Amino acid sequence: MSSNSVNIFRFAPSPNGAMHLGHAYSALLNYELAKQTGGKFLVRIEDIDQERCTPQNETRMLEDLLWLGLEWEEPPTRQSTRFDCYKHTLRSLEKRGLIYPSFMSRADVKAFGKANPDWLRDPDGALIYPGQERDWSEAQRQAELKKGTPANWRLDMCKALADLPISNAEAWGDVVLARKDTPTSYHLAVVVDDAAQHVTHIVRGMDIKPATELHKLLQKLLELPEPTYVHHRLVLDNDGKKLSKSRQSLSIAALRSEGYTPQNIKKMIDWDDAEVETIIRSWSQAET
Ligand code: GLU
Repeated sequence: MSSNSVNIFRFAPSPNGAMHLGHAYSALLNYELAKQTGGKFLVRIEDIDQERCTPQNETRMLEDLLWLGLEWEEPPTRQSTRFDCYKHTLRSLEKRGLIYPSFMSRADVKAFGKANPDWLRDPDGALIYPGQERDWSEAQRQAELKKGTPANWRLDMCKALADLPISNAEAWGDVVLARKDTPTSYHLAVVVDDAAQHVTHIVRGMDIKPATELHKLLQKLLELPEPTYVHHRLVLDNDGKKLSKSRQSLSIAALRSEGYTPQNIKKMIDWDDAEVETIIRSWSQAET
């Protein structure tokens, strides 16, 4: 990245629950990095899962961010308004033979997993797709699609890696890029949107680190620029476990209603200004 371009950071929560301390840490880190490098801080609502994401959660998350003292320069974007864009990208991958429809139901995959307990799993713990439909003929696929059988669209990982053998994305297998009921998956939408919003720096949790390899592969396939990635520590609960959104007790809203202040929240997440400085220093060292 040239040194005179503006850094663009984003915080991209999924409003499928309340905002918790882990979200607060990630948002604050992105906000401070933007502020201290003269960059921009964007908020993107990742609400492709229309069953679990609600407008109420979204409103509360934005309120929590404002309460924490974070401000964004542009109105937040929402992935549920961008389905046409994802469809367009999918079509281009389909034309290149890089994705294919997979009609296996969840129950079929489950049954396969049961029958093959040692089968490989992806970094998220999901069964690697066994590949039965990868080599179907075009006629077979079209016949099934014409019948109206719902299909997931999967990346043909072998084909994708044929031109890009240096990738470390293999562990994901033929990952789903569009779901039966949604014309995208998290992996496709995040890559398309980061590029559309010209995001230069992606600062997100260690838990997403394995997915970054897949995102870099998708960026190469789609000829999109590769942002700079940082994977930050996770805020853990008292038992050393990752905070989950189901633990309502540690939601920012609950803490607010109990009288906690933004300063208290910073203490709870072990906020340290030095972390921001260390990250910025690592970038300037990489540039020299
Ligand atoms: N929407 C994702 C989440 O809430 C974050 C995605 C990302 O930062 O790339 O976990």
